[in-house]
Order: sequence, then structure tokens, then C-alpha cells
Amino acid sequence: MTQSSARQGESHLLLPNTDIEDMARVLAPLSRHLVSDGYDAALDALASRFPMRIHAYPTGISAFTWIVPERWLCREAALETLDGQKIFSAEDNLLHVVSYSLPFSGTVSREELFAHLHTPPAPAAERCPDAIPFVFKYYDRDWGLCCSARQKAALTADTYRVRIDSAFSAGAVKVGEVLVTGQRKDCIVFCAHLCHPGQFNDGLSGVLAGLKLTERLQRRSNLRYSYRMLILPETIGSACWLSHNPDVIPQLKGGLFLETLATAYPHVLMHSNQPTSWFDRLCTVVLRHENAGNTDVPFLGSLLNDERMFNATGIQCPMCSLMRVAPRSDDLWPYATYHTSLDVCENADFANLQKSIDLLEQIVNATEADCVPRPLWQGELFVSRYNGLDYERDGKILREITYSMDGKRSINDIAQLRNADFFEIKRVLDILAEEGLVTHEACL
Ligand SMILES: [Zn+2]
Repeated sequence: MTQSSARQGESHLLLPNTDIEDMARVLAPLSRHLVSDGYDAALDALASRFPMRIHAYPTGISAFTWIVPERWLCREAALETLDGQKIFSAEDNLLHVVSYSLPFSGTVSREELFAHLHTPPAPAAERCPDAIPFVFKYYDRDWGLCCSARQKAALTADTYRVRIDSAFSAGAVKVGEVLVTGQRKDCIVFCAHLCHPGQFNDGLSGVLAGLKLTERLQRRSNLRYSYRMLILPETIGSACWLSHNPDVIPQLKGGLFLETLATAYPHVLMHSNQPTSWFDRLCTVVLRHENAGNTDVPFLGSLLNDERMFNATGIQCPMCSLMRVAPRSDDLWPYATYHTSLDVCENADFANLQKSIDLLEQIVNATEADCVPRPLWQGELFVSRYNGLDYERDGKILREITYSMDGKRSINDIAQLRNADFFEIKRVLDILAEEGLVTHEACL
């Protein structure tokens, strides 16, 4: 699908299947602004493939201290020479116009144009001179265009013609919710944003990873906890959903915001505002032993998204963030194509995205398995007496477990205390349980 055939106003899009690359190639080019037809089309297409409930929050209503913005539509946006020759337009690329730009039509000096013309920041522009930046002005009303550093350098005339035919109207913030119900209402919430027109890694990669995870979880029976995937426009979507679901907030025992999971970088775990929470510590242990990246950063220490709202005053859900970004010291942090027209499927690493989904499933596995084991014997265990145990294989881990079990420590506590593999501890505890040597208590 080309960008021009996926413009705002298009609806009833079909996804051919739930193959992650096929879905990405249909959805990434859409004009997915905060409240827009392109966003709605993308969410409807996903809802036709996943068991999703869609919540709508109309323009103008309050969500905590926020107010739901208007729907934005851009029919045309172009920069032209005075004799009507097109220099660039939103027909060429969706990002040539500032998201939520005011309408504007007129002749402007180069100086005035440059006050409204956005290019990527210097390091990214030098690396990618043809990248067009993604710029949004949701709340400070202004008109604006965007272009690459190379295009701006070629603007040597004194005057230009600008045409931006945009419109604001009543609409609704839409939030998609997929709930996988377990035995308990206690819930882990995954969250990603579907806004960001024409881009893939920022937002959409996390949406697809989360949905593929729920697809796997739907096939499992006897889940102890419930799992929610929320798909929303950034920040305002979380404010809307949380402010309208106050009864669910106490059930949210942990969360993960998902984004930029198809870059070439290893995983980064940004902790919640409660870095010693049960779920924070589970994520740390799983990432360490999956060797999936060991960069733990504190809350507010990396890319910021909806985890801010979940961790905020009066909500205090320990939501971490899982991403793949460059080291903070890198000039191109978070990644070279971030918030530009080059953040597209062709520049994405889908193998890494699959690995991220596997990692998410391991985090769920640890969440389900964590419990407090209680020993039912005294003294050092006579390992050779029990058929399921192999002294050569299990002796070391068994010592680490038996000398750490005190009826209060969970598997996760023991894994952290002994710097041992969570799933290896779980394997040996399962053998001890079969031999009638331990009982388990749930962590929550
Ligand atoms: Zn972004």
C-alpha cells in the first residue's frame, strides 16, 4: 500500500491475516494522528482480527486534568513556488505537514517560512539528510510544514506559497482493549500507542508485539492472573481509559509499556516509579537470564510514554517500559530514524521483534510461576534418595534453593539473592513438589 492510497478518510481496511509483517505493512503507512480517520481505520482493522473492545471518549470531555482534543483532518498541504510549481507536499509524504497544524494559505517570505518549517535535529539530519521529521503541535495552535535537511538547503528564493487545508471537528479518542481472563482479576497491563502517522517502530511495533502476545495467552488455559493489552493514542488515551475505569486500577499489579521493539538494539528496561515492586523485579530477573539486554534504567530515564500516566498521582500502577534503543550517550539516541519519515517497515528488524514477543512471554511465564515455596523437611536433604533429582545436575542449584527458602522468599527473591536462573529454580522446585517436599503459596 502506498502512502497516498492510505490517506485520511479511508476506512474498512482489511488485514490479510495476523502475520506480524503483513499487518505492519498495511498499518504503518496510515495517517494515524491522535484523533483521526487514519487512527480509527487502523484500530478497526486490528479489532477485526483480535478480540478487542473499543472505548470511545468524545472530544471535549475531561480525563483527569486533560481534555480530549478534536479530530484533525488534512486534505492538502504543500509548499510551492510563486508560479505554482510544487516543491513538496503531503501527497509525497504524510510528515510534510505538522500534525494538528492550523489551516493556512498565503505567500510568505523565506524568513517567515523558516519560522514554521521543521527539519530533524542536527545529528539525525547529518546521518539522514533525506529524513522528514515528525512534528506535532496538539495544544499550541500554529501552522507548520516539515522537510528534510536537503530540501531546506535548496530553498534559496525570497518568497513562497503555502497551502495547508486542514480542519478540526468533534471526534473521539479511541482505546482498544484486549482482555485475557485468568483465575484472578489481578492483572498485568501491557500498553502501546497506535498514533504516529507513517511510522513503525515508534508505537506500532509495540502494538503488534502486545497483540501477538495476547494471541499466545488466549491459547493457554488455567492462567493465574489476567492480562490486558491497551492500544491507544499517546498520553491522552491512557488518561481517558484510566479515568473511566477507576474500579480496575487497584487490580493493576504491574505493567509494561511496549515500543521501538524492532530496532537493531538490545532491550532496555526502564523501571516503574516503584523499582522494588514485584513486577519490576520479575522483569529484571527475566531480562538478565534471557540475556536479552541488561540495561536497567530508572523511571523517567529513557523514552517517556504512557507509563508516566500509569505511575502518576493517585494511580501508582508500577508500569515499566520495554524498548530497544541506543545507549543514552549516543548522538542518535534513541535511534537514527526516530520521529522521521525513515521509521518505516523497510528499516525495521522483524527478527528482533519476534525475539521481543518471546521475551514478553517469558515475563508472563515468570509472573505465572512465581510463588513462595515452603520446605516440608528438616536438615540437609539426602538428594540421592529422590528419583527425580540428579546430584550431578541439580546439586548446586538445590543448595542455593534449600539454603534460601524460608517460607517468605519467592522464587524471584531467591533468583535475585543467588543470582540464579528463575526457570531453573522453578524446575527443581517442581521436582521437590512432586516428591512431596515443598508446598507453594501465591505471591499476591
Ligand atoms: Zn514518539
